[in-house]
Amino acid sequence: MHTTATHCPYCALQCGMNLRPAAGEAGESAVEVVEREDFPVNRGALCGKGRTAPALLSSRVRLTEPLIRTHATGTLEPATWEEALDAIAEGLGRTRRAHGPDAVGVFGGGGLTNEKAYALGKFARVALGTSQIDYNGRFCMSSAAAAHQRAFGLDRGLPFPLEDIPRTGCVILVGSNLAETMPPALRYLTELKENGGTLIVIDPRRTRTAAQADLHLAPRPGTDLALALGLLHLVVAEGHTDEAFIAERTTGWEEARAAAMAHWPELVERITGVPVPRLREAVSMFCTPSSAMVLTARGPEQQAKGTDTVSAWINLCLATGRAGRPHSGYGCLTGQGNGQGGREHGQKADQLPGYRKLTDPAARAHVAAVWGVDPDSLPGPGRSAYELLDALGGDVRALLLMGSNPVVSAPHASRIEDRIRSLEFLAVADVVLSETAALADVVLPVTQWAEETGTTTNLEGRVLLRRQALTPPPGVRSDLHVLHGLAARLGIDKGFPEDPEEVFAELRRASAGGPADYSGISYRAIEEHQGVFWPCPEDTPGPGTRRLFLDRFATDDGRARFIPVAHRESAELPDADYPVLLTTGRVVSQYQSGAQTRRVPELNAAAPEAFVEIHPRLADRIGAVEGAPLAVTSRRGRAVAPARITDTIRPDTVFMPFHWPGEGRANTLTNPALDPVSRMPEFKTCAVRVEPADAAAGS
Ligand code: SF4
Repeated sequence: MHTTATHCPYCALQCGMNLRPAAGEAGESAVEVVEREDFPVNRGALCGKGRTAPALLSSRVRLTEPLIRTHATGTLEPATWEEALDAIAEGLGRTRRAHGPDAVGVFGGGGLTNEKAYALGKFARVALGTSQIDYNGRFCMSSAAAAHQRAFGLDRGLPFPLEDIPRTGCVILVGSNLAETMPPALRYLTELKENGGTLIVIDPRRTRTAAQADLHLAPRPGTDLALALGLLHLVVAEGHTDEAFIAERTTGWEEARAAAMAHWPELVERITGVPVPRLREAVSMFCTPSSAMVLTARGPEQQAKGTDTVSAWINLCLATGRAGRPHSGYGCLTGQGNGQGGREHGQKADQLPGYRKLTDPAARAHVAAVWGVDPDSLPGPGRSAYELLDALGGDVRALLLMGSNPVVSAPHASRIEDRIRSLEFLAVADVVLSETAALADVVLPVTQWAEETGTTTNLEGRVLLRRQALTPPPGVRSDLHVLHGLAARLGIDKGFPEDPEEVFAELRRASAGGPADYSGISYRAIEEHQGVFWPCPEDTPGPGTRRLFLDRFATDDGRARFIPVAHRESAELPDADYPVLLTTGRVVSQYQSGAQTRRVPELNAAAPEAFVEIHPRLADRIGAVEGAPLAVTSRRGRAVAPARITDTIRPDTVFMPFHWPGEGRANTLTNPALDPVSRMPEFKTCAVRVEPADAAAGS
C-alpha cells in the first residue's frame, strides 16, 4: 500500500509518522497512522495526539463550506467561496479605505506552515499595507527568543540536535513537563540517566517529568529568576566558574557577576522557598561533570520578567563554560508545531523573512526587492499579540485571523472576547468552528495538515516537509488559496501563488543572507537528509548546520554576552483578597486551545474538562472536596472546575490546564502583564481566591 511520510500536526517535536490508506467504515478517516521508525527525532514513538490526528480529517464537526453571517438572522449561513472571499475583501477593503491600513489587523498562528506564515506576513504588508500583524507564537516562547538574541545574537530554540541530550553530564530542565507536552522526547532524558547523567527538574509541581528527576526543586511560581541567580552566586562562591571560557568567549561578566553576588543563598531561599542545601546540591550536580545543559520552556518564559529569567539561566551556562561546546549549552523547548518557523518568516510584528528586523534598512531593501515593491512602502513594526488583540474594536476595526483561537488562548480572555465581539468585521480561516470562528462575519474552511504540502521547523531548527497524503473534501481550500484570492480582489494579481513549493522558492530568496537563511534548502534535500537544519545558505546546501556556536557566537565580535539581571517580583502577588497563586499549563491529551483535540473523541474522553489541582492542606483549609467544583477568582474574572486534591503541588499554589472554553476557561483568570522586551504575557502566575463553588455562589 502506498504510504506518505509526514509529521504530526501538533507540537514542536514534529514527530515523524507514515500515513497509509485505511480500510475503514464510511465516515471514518481515509488514512491511518503507522510508525515511521527511520525519523530520528521520535523513532516511531507518538503520543495519543499524534496517533489520533487523522480523526479530525473525516470528522463531521470539521468545516466543509464557507459561512457568512446574515444580517437578517445574525447566524452563520453556508456560502460559496466566491461570495465568502468577496465579502472578506469588501470588509477589509472598506475599513482600510475609511480608516487607513492600520485599521486592519492580521493575526496568525504557530501551527501555520513556513509557506503560510511567509505568505501571511507578505499579505499584511504588501496587500493590506498594515503594520498590525502578530501571532499566537508570541505567547509560546518569545521571551526565550529575546534572551537568545541578546546573549548569542541568534535565536534558534535548540542550538544542537536532541540526540546530544543523552551525551551530556547533567540537564537542568526549567518549567517543562515533557511527560505531558511531548512524551516521545522523554526518552532523551531516560537515555541521559542510563548513560550516567543526572536530571534536575525545576517546577512548582511534582509533575510526571519531575518524578523522574534526580533532584526536583519546587520554587514558588514566578521566582525562578532568583533561583538561577542564587545558583550562579554559589557557582562563583564555590569556585566553579570557567575563567578561560569567560575570558575567551564572552563579554559582560563583571556586571553579571556583581548582580548574581547580590543574591546570596539565604535570600534566595526566602524568595523561592527552595532550601539552601538543595541549591548547593544542584550546583554540585551541574558543575561536576565535564558537560551540562539548561533547557527552559514556558515556565520561566511566560512571565512579565521572562526575558530576564531566561537570561539568568544563560548566564549560568556561560559562567560555567556550558555553551558553544559539544554536548553543552542552553536551549529552549519550543511548544507550538511551527512556533520556530512561524516567527522566522514574517508574521511577527517586528520581523521580515529570514529573521530579519523590520527596522533594518538593509533588510527592508532586500525583502522589498524580492517582493518587487518600494522599501518605503513597507510599514514599520506593529503591536505585539496581546496589544493587538487588546486594540481590537478601537483603532483596529477589522481582523483577518488564521489558525488561532484567542477567545480561549489569550490571557484575560474575557476581555479579549469582548474586544473581538466589538470588531466591525472579523474573518477567520480554520478547520473547525472554534470559539473565535463562531464570532466571525465570514468563516473559511481550510485544509488540514495531511491534505496539503508544506514545511515546518521543529524545536531543533530542523526544517521538515509534510507531503500531501490525501485529497481534501470538496468545499475546503488551502490558506494559500485564501491569500491568493484576497490579494487578487485587493488589486494584486501577482506574488501570492497557491503552490507551496513556489512560495517556498520565494521564501528561500527572501531569507538569503539573513540570520535564518533557508536559501540552500529544497523539498528534495529535506527528504534526503531527514530534515535540514538552518542556517543553510545556498552555497553550502546539504543537511545544514546541526550545531551552532561551536567556533563563535552570532554576535558582531563572536562572543556571547552576559546580561546583568536582578530578581523582581511578579506583576501580581497574593494579598488578603487573593491569597493563592495560580499557575497554568497543559495535559497530555489536549493541545493549546483544544480547538482540534477537544473534537477527537478518544482525546476528549481522556481529558474532557478543566480541573483545579490543589494541595491537601489548602483543600482542608477552604473545605474543598475531591471532584466537587471549585471557584477560582482573580482580579479579571471567575472560573469553575472540579477539585483534584494532590500533594504534588505547593500548598500556596493551584494549577489549571488552559484548553477549555466556558466556565472552566483558565485564561479568564490569567494576567496580561507583559515582559518589557518580548511582550510575552505572564500566563504562569497570578493571584487568585479559591473556594468551593457553592460557597462562592452564596457569598
Ligand atoms: Fe505530535 Fe508532539 Fe505528540 Fe509528537 S509529541 S505525536 S509531535 S503532539
